[in-house]
Amino acid sequence: MTEASVTRLRPPRVRLRLVADAPPPVYRSNRPGHDDPKPRRTCDECGELFTPSTERDGFCTTTCRKSFNNRRAVRGAELYDLFMALRFERATAKRLKTWMVICRMASLFRKEDRAERAARKSWRSSEVIFQRRPYLFAAVIKRGRSTDKEAG
Ligand SMILES: [Zn+2]
Repeated sequence: MTEASVTRLRPPRVRLRLVADAPPPVYRSNRPGHDDPKPRRTCDECGELFTPSTERDGFCTTTCRKSFNNRRAVRGAELYDLFMALRFERATAKRLKTWMVICRMASLFRKEDRAERAARKSWRSSEVIFQRRPYLFAAVIKRGRSTDKEAG
């Protein structure tokens, strides 16, 4: 009988930026001889420069944030269904070439992004999800006699 415990592993070391692929902050002078300390950034949706109210703020308006998230919801709903079928209905997914369909959908989404959004990313960086769900990096470690040869 072995006891098992869950040990939390560290997610991959990543450096977060305000927004993936965002240009470095632009400092604007509003007084002669003084630089405005507030960094400006490009809106993830419309591409306009704005001054974010928080470090995580990626959109110039609520409308832009909603547009960005609505597109993700619409695109993501079908991808979710396909991915779950790929993971849990493997035989059917293989027969229907589900992985190929998923990749084609992603390519078409990217093509749309290039044509309609000046190639701005339409997805959030993976690091955001990794930080929100650190338990996904957990692993079950068996205690007791180890079958692995230990160093030394
Ligand atoms: Zn915007």
